[in-house]
Amino acid sequence: MNAYKHVVYWHDTEPVTLGEPLRESVECDVCIVGGGFTGLWTAYFLKEAEPALDIRVVEANHSGYGASGRADGFVTPTIGKDIQALVKEFGLQRALDASKAVGRSILEIGRFARRNRVDVEYEANDYLMVATDAAQLKRLEHDRDLAERMGAAQPEILSRQDSQDIVGSPAVLASMRTGGALVNPFKLARGIARVVRDKGVTIYDKSPCLRVEPGVRPTVVTAGGRVRADKVVLATNVHMDAFPPFRNKVVPIWTYAMVSEPLTDEQLSRVAWAGREGLVEAKSLLTCARFTHDNRLMFAGGPAPYYYGRDKRQRNMNRPEVYRAIRQEFLRFFPMWGDIEFTYAYGGTADVVRDYAPHFGTLNGGNILYGYGYCGNGIAATHTGGKVLRDLALGKETDYSRLLFVDDERRKPPASFPPEPALYVGARAVARLMDWKESRA
Ligand SMILES: Cc1cc2nc3c(=O)[nH]c(=O)nc-3n(C[C@H](O)[C@H](O)[C@H](O)COP(=O)(O)OP(=O)(O)OC[C@H]3O[C@@H](n4cnc5c(N)ncnc54)[C@H](O)[C@@H]3O)c2cc1C
Repeated sequence: MNAYKHVVYWHDTEPVTLGEPLRESVECDVCIVGGGFTGLWTAYFLKEAEPALDIRVVEANHSGYGASGRADGFVTPTIGKDIQALVKEFGLQRALDASKAVGRSILEIGRFARRNRVDVEYEANDYLMVATDAAQLKRLEHDRDLAERMGAAQPEILSRQDSQDIVGSPAVLASMRTGGALVNPFKLARGIARVVRDKGVTIYDKSPCLRVEPGVRPTVVTAGGRVRADKVVLATNVHMDAFPPFRNKVVPIWTYAMVSEPLTDEQLSRVAWAGREGLVEAKSLLTCARFTHDNRLMFAGGPAPYYYGRDKRQRNMNRPEVYRAIRQEFLRFFPMWGDIEFTYAYGGTADVVRDYAPHFGTLNGGNILYGYGYCGNGIAATHTGGKVLRDLALGKETDYSRLLFVDDERRKPPASFPPEPALYVGARAVARLMDWKESRA
């Protein structure tokens, strides 16, 4: 029996010294609730635009504790569920504008890290979308056709042999190379937090926001103190449901990963994978794999359960049935690595909304802002989202404030999910339906 460490692997790559909690009543220009990528990039871009702004971040735990510090580290242009769904919902032009903005974010994250000397283990290796059956091959073809219509440089579907020369998995039947990078997401979150602190932003750790009192200047209330601000930005991802306007708008879907010990040279030599591309299976409940900086293998994805009552508790990291399913998938892709032991086995929650694409906007006459709903694809999209929130906070009409992310006269806030028990029954049915539809696509 393997005794897995139910600890987020990335959390072991950089120690955390907790900052001070909020212990007083203060006033500032902008108070951001949540120190993940959304909140931190918003602070960063606001400070870049207006260095004199007094910005405070109120974080329940510490920066990077949430999804941002436990993501698998695939920095991709994907917005929400996938590009097919995005074009269907918003039309080609708006999907294209948003995809280009998020595509730029992939490069800008690398530039940010270099400029600020933050070692985020950035590897500009692209990723390889792979098909392992006929339905997935069809999906690759659809994606290729759509990319062509969107004006991308002739994307090519590679043959079985060419694909296996890139990643030597016998399960791969075809593949398509797509632009993207890999990072250590925890080091990225901790790094942005350091950079914004150096720019004068105050981050209060261990200070969960209990409520926001609306008003001409809204107030963020914690157990230890209060922050009254001109603008409040809510950036709490799956925890948006703690705030009344978002109570039924977002559902936490669990997603899991396993990480091995560093592979030996002999183990590495068994599988062709010289380019270290991120590997992503072309389906919704996808499987993905990558190397970490020190040559551990991460294998992730597979089951994406919803637990009754919006259960986000950390004890859900201990789910042997999920890890059995992931290990089985791993062996399907890499039977030659049967001796690899995974030591880390953990998970986190992705914020799924009814229309599968992120939402940004304003409430209360414009002084309460929000951004959430990445549906498990948020590393690059949160960077773009930070610019959207910057422009909404500064009241500027720009290309970012017009992106499809924004709830405005063209886009409504997401529809609500039903309460329990209908939510649980519905979530299970949707997962089954998705699997069934994709196997027949
Ligand atoms: C396991 C997993 C793997 C993923 N892999 C990828 C990937 O490979 N590529 C990709 O693009 N995306 C991935 N994602 C999605 C991506 O991580 C998220 O979309 C992104 O990090 C969201 O950032 P965020 O700042 O909105 O949320 P978070 O990082 O969750 O930040 C929200 C913060 O708010 C804090 N908070 C919550 N409630 C309160 C409160 N009441 N008061 C104060 N603070 C509060 C939390 O502690 C947290 O730090 C993955 C997600 C998960 C869960």
